[in-house]
Amino acid sequence: MKTLIFSTHPFEKPFIQEAFKLKKNQEFNFSKDHLSIQTAIQTKGYDAISLFTSDDASAKVLKKIKSYGIQYIALRSVGHDHIDLKSAAKLGIKVANVPEYSPYSIAEHTVALLLALDRKIPLGQELIKQNNFCLDSLVGFDLKGKTIGIIGTGRIGAAFARIMHGFGCKLLGFDIIQNDELMEQTDIIYTSLNKLCAQSDVISVHCPLTKFTKHLVNKKLFKSMKKKVIFINTARGSIVNTVDLIEAIENKTIAAAGLDVYEFEIPIFFINHLDKPIEDKLFKKLQSFPNVLITGHQAFLTNEALKGIAATTASNLDEFSKKGSNVNELF
Ligand code: NAD
Repeated sequence: MKTLIFSTHPFEKPFIQEAFKLKKNQEFNFSKDHLSIQTAIQTKGYDAISLFTSDDASAKVLKKIKSYGIQYIALRSVGHDHIDLKSAAKLGIKVANVPEYSPYSIAEHTVALLLALDRKIPLGQELIKQNNFCLDSLVGFDLKGKTIGIIGTGRIGAAFARIMHGFGCKLLGFDIIQNDELMEQTDIIYTSLNKLCAQSDVISVHCPLTKFTKHLVNKKLFKSMKKKVIFINTARGSIVNTVDLIEAIENKTIAAAGLDVYEFEIPIFFINHLDKPIEDKLFKKLQSFPNVLITGHQAFLTNEALKGIAATTASNLDEFSKKGSNVNELF
């Protein structure tokens, strides 16, 4: 089987090359381009493609690549909100994702954002670079004994919960499915979303982006949060209404925000904008706040996670070529 791997970045190439070494009948090429209606032509002559979160796999693009002969799509991500699965099914294109790869990579990055915001590390660094060692603006709080609200307690949310349990925090969870094992391990208490917001000192989002979770975090929910809450989102940007988030920061409804994802991130993230200024006004506003810490969708970026993503992607494609189906198929 011949696969074109879209949106490849230098950081992942060695892991992909290594993973494919073990799959003898798999041929592959890299494309640094995102899949789009303009780049769909590149899929001519391939049986399969591999996509990242920045690729456009909407109905019209899927129709186009099907006409060029694409039968399989291997996503290099857990999230699959960027692909129109219904259209793929209708067209007979099979899709698989990487349902699990080091949830610790994202959970630990969440902790990094939280600690950096709580202990004001970015501001402290700025001051030190200016030879200012006054501590007056750098007072944080102990996490021990604080309440952490976790929206979505699946693999990543649970890994984050276990770490925060180790910090001596109280845990509140909101999920459509309760994780009994996690309740035993961490004493997490499941509650309603409103109660979680009213009682938590830190709120972290770990649910997928679906039609039910789009703008789940909005003006009304921000208003129900405790004053001085630290809000973290490492899941998907569109779970949060960005206009409402900006208002909550401006009104000081929330104390700080740590964001690894952004609602309109696709034209911004994973690209060097040195010669191409960012024009997105909402993003620039977020960048301007001293109490907002943004990372560019890098929570997954550890050696362990990259190795896991590459291994499962190569296996998914191998299974598709041998059996025509796959354990990680999405429908
Ligand atoms: P998972 O499927 O193991 O867990 C998701 C949890 O969310 C499940 O427990 C599910 O029941 C819950 N959920 C679903 N709908 C919900 C709703 N309406 N309200 C509340 N909870 C709901 O997935 P995971 O591996 O923990 O990943 C979670 C998300 O993290 C992914 O969907 C992806 O969007 C995001 N992610 C981000 C990065 C990154 O680099 N920033 C990397 C990987 C994954």
